[in-house]
Amino acid sequence: MTQTAHGVEFSQQLSATPKSAEERTAILANPGFGDYFTDHTAVIDYSVTAEGDGGWHNARVEAYGPISLDPSAAVLHYGQEIFEGLKAYRHADGSIWTFRPDANANRLNRSARRLALPELPEELFLEAIRELVAADQEWVPSGDGEALYLRPFMIATEAFLGVRAAREVSFRVIASPAGNYFGGTLKPISIWISREYARAGRGGTGAAKCGGNYAASLIAQQEAEANGCKQVLFLDQANDNAVEELGGMNLFFVMKDGSLVTPALSGTILEGVTRMSILQIAKDMGRTVTERKITLDEWRDGVASGEITEVFASGTAAVITPIGVLRDATEFIGSEDATPGETTMAIREQLLGIQTGTVEDQHGWLTRLV
Ligand SMILES: *Cc1c(COP(=O)(O)O)cnc(C)c1O
Repeated sequence: MTQTAHGVEFSQQLSATPKSAEERTAILANPGFGDYFTDHTAVIDYSVTAEGDGGWHNARVEAYGPISLDPSAAVLHYGQEIFEGLKAYRHADGSIWTFRPDANANRLNRSARRLALPELPEELFLEAIRELVAADQEWVPSGDGEALYLRPFMIATEAFLGVRAAREVSFRVIASPAGNYFGGTLKPISIWISREYARAGRGGTGAAKCGGNYAASLIAQQEAEANGCKQVLFLDQANDNAVEELGGMNLFFVMKDGSLVTPALSGTILEGVTRMSILQIAKDMGRTVTERKITLDEWRDGVASGEITEVFASGTAAVITPIGVLRDATEFIGSEDATPGETTMAIREQLLGIQTGTVEDQHGWLTRLV
């Protein structure tokens, strides 16, 4: 048992049937993204009485497997769910590190407030990750661009069909070895403009990392895929077609003068930890960075005039992905033959270098797990 400063102790009920070393090696040879899961999961339960007593308890690492939920559990009906995404990296000396987990813990709590879920002390968030990665450390890959993707999430488990914030909740972390998100080479991707659907609206949940936002984005994602595109661009159509973000990634523009522009946080955009880190890294490289409104017209005209030289997307899963084309039935911006831009690649190398321990971590972003 590990006693934390919060008085919550993690117990370990290790899996009786972990995958064999051969099976694990076969999975790690070609992990893909989100297809395979490690042997364990970290769990912390929460309950509160109508009088408001209670809290987080029963912290444990247990065997990965199906969750038993009452069919009336609130999450299944009203979508009271939030999640996070971060990675554990194996450094050359075998040690295992994670990147800015405090930022993820902090964002989880911002999402929790918006979805009327209980906040989790940041230290418990980190302890859950530490305990899980310690139990499943053999699962952290060491190949180029590979990591163990960690997926913390919180669900309303209370069995009750009335509409109110649930009084029973469960926080869990699962882990999945991850290779390159878009598979293999870093080829610029094509993006589809969603005109009919929005993922978020003013006063809605766009700034929270919740499953509901993804559910709302899937129909647009299907439309993108049907048109040969990998991702969707969401616009704020009530605001001059201001560029917001992709279904699960933030956007950056590299200007002719070497400066970077990213859409300002408007309340309908998810504030990525990768986005936040790129803003700092670009500053460290001596570049000007601006968070402001950028419209579809500016994107089209800027690419045509050469004012915008590179466009890329950012997020933990795919890190930094160059964008070659933005299109729909009436628009075609960019080129199918685009190659990754120099600035895009320089920032990507710097970020990956910090995460994997080959570039100095000037800002104290890394936390050692094992
Ligand atoms: C998670 C997420 C991102 C990227 O956030 P990171 O912290 O950089 O991984 C961007 N947009 C949406 C909608 C997201 O859910």
